[in-house]
Amino acid sequence: MKCKICNNEIQKTFLNKILGTYVKVKKNEKNELIPICKDCQKKGMDYIKEKI
Ligand SMILES: [Zn+2]
Repeated sequence: MKCKICNNEIQKTFLNKILGTYVKVKKNEKNELIPICKDCQKKGMDYIKEKI
């Protein structure tokens, strides 16, 4: 799975959780979950919202 912002491959933990987060965005009246890596997550929600 790739980060929607930087396009880097997102690593997974041994529990198969992503090292990062999912951000819910509304697109054409549908909610979509966008995967974000932990590096982009660290830059904050404002940065993420601006990029996606
Ligand atoms: Zn990223």
